[in-house]
Amino acid sequence: MSRSPAVEGWFTTGPEPTLLGSRCTTCATVYFPPTGTGQGSFCRNPTCDGDEFESAALSRRGTVWSYTDAQYQPPAPYVARTDPYQPFALAAVELAEGITVLGQVADGYGVADLRVGAEVELVVEPLDGDDGELLVWRWKPVTELGEEADQ
Ligand SMILES: [Zn+2]
Repeated sequence: MSRSPAVEGWFTTGPEPTLLGSRCTTCATVYFPPTGTGQGSFCRNPTCDGDEFESAALSRRGTVWSYTDAQYQPPAPYVARTDPYQPFALAAVELAEGITVLGQVADGYGVADLRVGAEVELVVEPLDGDDGELLVWRWKPVTELGEEADQ
């Protein structure tokens, strides 16, 4: 099966995927999602007049800044993977670049696997499970939590 990114140009695929942001060539500020180039593109830094950007591969790991459980089914165009709808976890992850990137949490993980400050790693997974053709980025916990609770 051929699979392709759900959004072209926002991330790479393969064993070590990365998110692709934009770096302003004037002030070096990095953004995600990437900005366009050419007419109408502008630097998000309000004190910068830059209008040229280069692609920037972002850190593959970051720390959880916040997270939540999507207990209610999002409105269309969201397509539920299961019927009835199963909640999924979302994490806002702070990267070394100084930006926070929201994403779903990797398949098989939920809010019980997350903690503010915990390390997560970028993975790319099929949007709709094993049969899905579209790929999305997700955040996967690096360390297993809960082991200390058994003591
Ligand atoms: Zn700039």
